[in-house]
Amino acid sequence: MYIVLLGPPGAGKGTQSKNLAVKLGLPHISTGDILRQNVKDGTELGKQAKGIMDKGLLVPDELVAKMLDERFNNPDIKKGFILDGYPRTLPQAGTLDQIMASKGLSVDLVVYLDSSDKVIIERLGGRLVCSKCGALYHVTNMPPKAKDLCDKCQGALYQRSDDNEVTVSKRLEVYKKEVASLIEYYTKAKKLYRLNADLEAGVVLNQITDLAHKVK
Ligand code: AMP
Repeated sequence: MYIVLLGPPGAGKGTQSKNLAVKLGLPHISTGDILRQNVKDGTELGKQAKGIMDKGLLVPDELVAKMLDERFNNPDIKKGFILDGYPRTLPQAGTLDQIMASKGLSVDLVVYLDSSDKVIIERLGGRLVCSKCGALYHVTNMPPKAKDLCDKCQGALYQRSDDNEVTVSKRLEVYKKEVASLIEYYTKAKKLYRLNADLEAGVVLNQITDLAHKVK
């Protein structure tokens, strides 16, 4: 089952994708995570993307499309995936359909995680990420057991460089400009379901799981 999670930064796409991936036994593919890994590894793509990401802007389409196409060649996506962070624009939605069609695949379900600005800013301001395994925490809503250490692997927790106030507001602006056309695209395709992502993470996860079972 091929699932796309849409929503503003801070709606919980990362947290929901990770949990859903475990629940459904599917890989979680996050374009942001792949880009950050490239930045960390100092690859050519990472060097091109870093400055753009720190400004909260979108990395050029052709770079992200190539990266995704390569990722989809991994046989682990045979049964499906949870895609997080792509598409972000209408042209990217078209590209996703093309790349998937070239591999005989198509998107089954698009879940739109709708969240208020107040909750987004609160979530991103306190978000912590494990530098080793990528697990997500929040200083107050989901604190780690030991300060700044991952519960799962003891890796050091850090704050993403683009989770500062200025970059968050730019990311939200970019998101809002693009999202309406994506919603229209997937509504027309009868694939879109909207959920209130301000609710507690466990409640939202159950709702997404119910949708996934209903659609397939
Ligand atoms: P995320 O982890 O999804 O919040 O993404 C972090 C940053 O990576 C974004 O602010 C963009 O700079 C870049 N990025 C992630 N996904 C995409 C995409 N589909 N298209 C362009 N840039 C992206």
